[in-house]
Amino acid sequence: MSRTVAFIGLGHMGGPMAANLVKAGHRVHGFDLDATALREATGTGITPAGSAAEAVAGADVVITMLPAGRHVLDLYDTILSTARPGTLFVDCSTIDVADARTAHERAETARMRGLDAPVSGGVVGAEAATLTFMAGGGHAEFAEAEPLLAAMGKRAVHCGGAGAGQAAKICNNMILGVSMIAVSEAFVLGESLGLSHQALYDVASTASGQCWALSVNCPVPGPVPASPANRDYRPGFAASLMAKDLGLAANAVRAGGVHAELGLKVAELYAAYAEQVGAAEDFSGIVRIIRDHSGEQA
Ligand code: NAD
Repeated sequence: MSRTVAFIGLGHMGGPMAANLVKAGHRVHGFDLDATALREATGTGITPAGSAAEAVAGADVVITMLPAGRHVLDLYDTILSTARPGTLFVDCSTIDVADARTAHERAETARMRGLDAPVSGGVVGAEAATLTFMAGGGHAEFAEAEPLLAAMGKRAVHCGGAGAGQAAKICNNMILGVSMIAVSEAFVLGESLGLSHQALYDVASTASGQCWALSVNCPVPGPVPASPANRDYRPGFAASLMAKDLGLAANAVRAGGVHAELGLKVAELYAAYAEQVGAAEDFSGIVRIIRDHSGEQA
């Protein structure tokens, strides 16, 4: 069934996601504060709106893909009163679990319906419509959003009630951050012990050390030819995005009083690393920092 969708936030992720909705036959009214992003999106068949409020008027579903929780909540304050009652608000941004729950509450108070549906898969996945969505909200809301999510991704998992999608996203990325540091430290330890990268890879990738950070995004060049380490750590998954997600995980760890020492430590390490390299390096480039600092401790 073709739907009328308002898509707010047409940046690196939102632009190609909205374009895939158009390709699937939906009518998409788009808005972005950045005139360039809006113009580029118009070239993919999206109808540009003069404001977010104009985009949502008459929409069946509103999709947001914005930088952070404050952007989503500020926008909701502007547009919840202008949408048709009962409109489904799907937020695909990666934001704090607490902000996601607040967004659901504000939507419900305004007689709208909400779903948090952050993604993994990056810009490549957004362009190829192979994203994975992690959704939080009611069953009816998930069922209604599913055909739209299917047009933008390859998999959508309903994780539970309000905020559960964001919770799944930050828990997954906390595993990823910790495992990338563990793999990187192991390679640098191997170097100091005279062990070749290939030998450690051949053992660990088929033994109990196996994980995505090793076997897909290997932080040293050689063993996995497609990993960012082979192209001077060009992203991939930018260090700044990993730092952001780990910061959200650390907020939730503290808010919940969870004894997650590694989760907090890895957030600190990635915050410092991202301050140096921003979005220019893949998060696996942290292996170089570990190597540089190892010399200091010897
Ligand atoms: P981006 O900065 O490229 O795009 C965000 C867009 O939102 C910008 O174009 C900005 O102008 C627009 N915007 C901000 N406030 C607005 C408002 N009030 N109204 C209209 N437009 C507004 O960021 P991105 O890389 O597309 O990421 C978007 C979200 O997706 C973030 O939450 C990010 O953490 C998450 N994410 C990104 C990736 C990735 O690889 N880039 C992967 C997974 C998740």
